[in-house]
Amino acid sequence: MRTPVIAGNWKMYLTPAEGKAMVQELQTLTAGVTGREIVLCPPFVTLPAVAEAAQESAIGIGGQNMHPANEGAFTGEIAAPMLRACGCTYVILGHSERRQYFGETDAAVAAKTKAALAGQLVPIVCVGETLDEREQGITQAVIEIQLRRALGGLTAAELTGVIVAYEPVWAIGTGRTASPADAQDVCAFIRTVLAALQAEAAPKVRILYGGSVKPDNIRELMAQSDIDGALVGGASLQAASFAKIVRFE
Ligand code: PGA
Repeated sequence: MRTPVIAGNWKMYLTPAEGKAMVQELQTLTAGVTGREIVLCPPFVTLPAVAEAAQESAIGIGGQNMHPANEGAFTGEIAAPMLRACGCTYVILGHSERRQYFGETDAAVAAKTKAALAGQLVPIVCVGETLDEREQGITQAVIEIQLRRALGGLTAAELTGVIVAYEPVWAIGTGRTASPADAQDVCAFIRTVLAALQAEAAPKVRILYGGSVKPDNIRELMAQSDIDGALVGGASLQAASFAKIVRFE
C-alpha cells in the first residue's frame, strides 16, 4: 500500500557535470526497476543538469532545503517555485545538518513544510535524536516534539503527502547504522505520533530510515514493517552503490 522511496541526499557534493554523469550511469543500472520511487537531491546548482539527464527516466528530483516564502529579499535562499522550475517534485526539510549548523528550528521546518505542500513539492521531513539524547533515554520524547511541531498544523490530506525520514544523528556519516530492530521501533513510534495527529493519514505516510544506509544493510532495513524506504547520503554519490540500494534485492 505504501510505495517505497529510496532518496539520495548528495549534500554539498557533485558539480553539474559530475551529477549528470552519475545520473546517466544510474539510469542504466536501474533500468527495469519498478514499484518504488527513486529520488536524487543534488546541490541547487546541480539541479538543472540532473533534471535534464533524468528527463526520460522515472528518477525524481528534490531540493535539500528551501525558504518558506515564494520570493523575496532573502539573500542566498531558494523558493519552492524555483525548485519546481528546476524539475523538483520533492524537497528535504529539517535535515539534522541544517538544524545543527544553520540553526534551523522546528518552527522553520513547519513553515517550510506548509510552503512545500502549497508549492506542489513532496516534503521529506527529517527527525532524529543525538547520541546524547539516545543515551539519556529521551529518543521518543525528542522525536515526538519534532513531529508535533513540524507537522501538527497539517490536515489529513496534507499529512498523507508528507514523507518522514528518521535519521538518528549519531548514525549519519559515521558508519554506525541503527540496528534494523531499533530503527523499526522508532519508525513504529513515529507512526503512532502521526496517528495521534491525523489518524487516517498515519497508515499512508512513508517513513524512511537514514544514517549510514549501504548496499549491505538495505535489505534488512526494508524488511521492517514500518520502514518504507531510505534517505541515503554517502552511498548515494556513486551510481553503483546507490543502484544496489535502489534494487534492495
Ligand atoms: P549518510 O547520510 O547515509 O552518509 O549517513 C544520511 C543523511 O544525512 O541523509
